[in-house]
Amino acid sequence: MNRPKDGSSRRDFLAGAAMFTLACSGRSAGEPEYDLLLKGGHLIDPKNSLSAVRDLAVRDGKVAAVGQAIDPGQAFKIVECQGLYVTPGLIDLHVHVFAGTNEQGSYAGDNSLYPDGYTFRSGVTTVVDAGCAGWRNFETFRDTVISRARTRVLALVNIIGQGMRGGAIEQDLADMEAAPTAALAKEHSDVIVGVKTAHYAGPEWDPVEEAVRAGETAGIPVMVDFGSNLPERPIETLLGEKLRPGDIYTHCFSGNRRELLEDGTPNPGLFTGRERGIYFDVGHGGGSFKWSVAAKCLEAGFPPDSISTDLHIGSMNAGMQSQVNTMSKFLALGESLDDVILQSTWNPAREIQREELGHLSVGAIADIAVLRKESGDFGFVDSFGARQDGTEKLVCEMAFKDGLLAWDLNGRTRQDWRQLPFDYGRQGESRWDGILNRRRS
Ligand SMILES: [Zn+2]
Repeated sequence: MNRPKDGSSRRDFLAGAAMFTLACSGRSAGEPEYDLLLKGGHLIDPKNSLSAVRDLAVRDGKVAAVGQAIDPGQAFKIVECQGLYVTPGLIDLHVHVFAGTNEQGSYAGDNSLYPDGYTFRSGVTTVVDAGCAGWRNFETFRDTVISRARTRVLALVNIIGQGMRGGAIEQDLADMEAAPTAALAKEHSDVIVGVKTAHYAGPEWDPVEEAVRAGETAGIPVMVDFGSNLPERPIETLLGEKLRPGDIYTHCFSGNRRELLEDGTPNPGLFTGRERGIYFDVGHGGGSFKWSVAAKCLEAGFPPDSISTDLHIGSMNAGMQSQVNTMSKFLALGESLDDVILQSTWNPAREIQREELGHLSVGAIADIAVLRKESGDFGFVDSFGARQDGTEKLVCEMAFKDGLLAWDLNGRTRQDWRQLPFDYGRQGESRWDGILNRRRS
């Protein structure tokens, strides 16, 4: 707080300070302190080791207070959350959202999806595009998708200059260059959080080594989709030597690259990698999650660091379905809800070195998911078409991005129409409603 200047009275100073506060917040005297109060939910905030019933108040897009009983009189909008779980907005660490180029059969095109239709309804407020664009086409991706989406879109830049455009393009070693990739990552450091290498089918280590060089230069992690399984470049060498601590191994439960040995036990290389500080990401997708691999790894004490969808046209309507469905699979495998939330919030935030995300500390960005855990008889399908039964399923009731409502499954923020005048107008206020009354930013 500024100190009063010499010669001005304390009263003048206090009046000035109050006016300053009002000017900043756009509030009038006597108005409620908080824009939004989520009341009575079970808050799960793994960064702060909190899993208990708490109220959570939001002001100006930030978490303003967390407490056992926040006065409802202090809030402009109150949303009852009894029986629901209030968590940080989910972070999906592996998606493909470079849609709109009209290129067929390409992740820089038709294989990708615009994010907003898949994110908020699943509690996701931040996605990380996993290498759809390289340094040659990243600016198009930024201009047409990243800057236009309501979802917070971050990105891993592909080590291939032309990005994930399929076929021979992704096998072209000559287009895998660390220097321009790192330069682009630095130029767009507000949204680029890592380097991706994927889908390589040859025996060379060049894609991994070049990606690591780019990551070193830009000071960001590398995520590896290890492509074809070849004896010349075994997973043990990747995890034991080639990757650095902080790099990310995605598709960790695919079984496609000897994550399980011939006898069905986890490859010891996974444990070596974890000891070295490498992160393990699910990246479910259309071909990268196998029940037997996930179950054997969890039984052996090897849970994922992050749960992600690998959202694309081949996974959206297959067994993957959504972030909350993918998380529910880990409940079915015996993980606790607190762990599943950790693996979908604070852990992925740390993996991409974005520690301002993935938690609900006072002052943090108010990205929030409100989830319901249903009990019943459910079935969950892996990427190979095998089913596992389960008794719990997560559903997203509400999502808030930057403190504004972005999804409301059952109209929990809305009033019954019979309580409104017959000629009621458009509902919602710009302080909390990002759907009907979106604040311009
Ligand atoms: Zn992918």
